[in-house]
Amino acid sequence: MKIDRIETFLLESPIDAPFGWSQGWAAKRQALVCKLTTSDGIVGWGEGGGSPSQTVVHEIFAPILLGREPGNINAVWHSLFHLLHNDNLATGFGGGALSAIDIALWDVAGKRAGKSVSKLLGGSLRDRVAVYATGLYYAEGDDRSRLIAEAEPYLSAGYKGMKTKIGGLSVKDDVDRVAAIRAAIGEDVYLMVDANKAYDVSTAIEMGNRLADLDIHWLEEPVLANDVEGYLAVKSGQPLRVAGGEVWYNRFDARDFLSRRAVDIAQPDVRFIGGISEFRNVAATANANGIQVNPHVWGSPIMISASVNLTATFAPCPYAHAPRPYEQEPVMEFDQTPNPIRDELASSTFGARDGYVDVPDGPGLGIEIDETVLERLCIRKAESVVE
Ligand code: CA
Repeated sequence: MKIDRIETFLLESPIDAPFGWSQGWAAKRQALVCKLTTSDGIVGWGEGGGSPSQTVVHEIFAPILLGREPGNINAVWHSLFHLLHNDNLATGFGGGALSAIDIALWDVAGKRAGKSVSKLLGGSLRDRVAVYATGLYYAEGDDRSRLIAEAEPYLSAGYKGMKTKIGGLSVKDDVDRVAAIRAAIGEDVYLMVDANKAYDVSTAIEMGNRLADLDIHWLEEPVLANDVEGYLAVKSGQPLRVAGGEVWYNRFDARDFLSRRAVDIAQPDVRFIGGISEFRNVAATANANGIQVNPHVWGSPIMISASVNLTATFAPCPYAHAPRPYEQEPVMEFDQTPNPIRDELASSTFGARDGYVDVPDGPGLGIEIDETVLERLCIRKAESVVE
């Protein structure tokens, strides 16, 4: 069996109402989807972050991927990473491109073996994965009643935790906003805040101290994403757990954060970190350092399935007789913002029940891509084929 064809599809969909965070406003959603077709007709799907990753797939990877046996994922992964490493492209869009290929290779391997990705990874430790609701972004003409109206369905759906944004308003206004959410949802639900890198160290420390009375479970991306010293300073200067890592692109990006315990919670994204293969390496290193791994998940059903399959295999951190989500069990992000790509691209969608998502057991990623939707949402397609 050989890789015969590599296709990538940059998908884009407008959304009805824009939503905001500290760095901008979303008026559309995008995803970069990769389709690998083998010589005996198996199709594997992958997803990678960043639209420029499409160029890396076809210009850098395709020449050594086409005609290659896809079964030895490890060998393929390392030969691709070696190319990126030599070109100093191992982070950023290189990592996004490698993620897309790696996820597709695992899907191919699972379909070939008739096993789910979690089974190929050695098997699940749990039948379902705990998830929290990500939403409560900024909105135009925002007011407290809109926020509370958004939070209520998360409660009634059984989510045990939810996450909101900070960093888009003044410290005082953001604290008031978070306090309004806490008052509305009560004391029994985990509430997390995400600054998306909006602060310098002293402002992040001020924010963490001001939010401490609101029982906030973690403070996410308080400062610049690669600032290990900044993270350590924020950790020591305020009482909230500090989370980060959604834009790590390989184990070397993650290394100092994990070995120096600069985060309490690591949040790699399978679209960026180098796919399923490298996520597993980073998750094991985090676990060895006593750091929770709660994956960043904000994309199509392809990366959602890859993330659930991975999270199902993560060891508790630390071990416990009956590990609990948010304490020892991993908790995966579950994006609630408008995203037609997430909702329409696969013939079945992932639904949360009582704060959990079932681990898929179909071969590979266990999802069927609707290629009519794929073509309809595609704004830029590229293809590399065996001559
Ligand atoms: Ca985030």
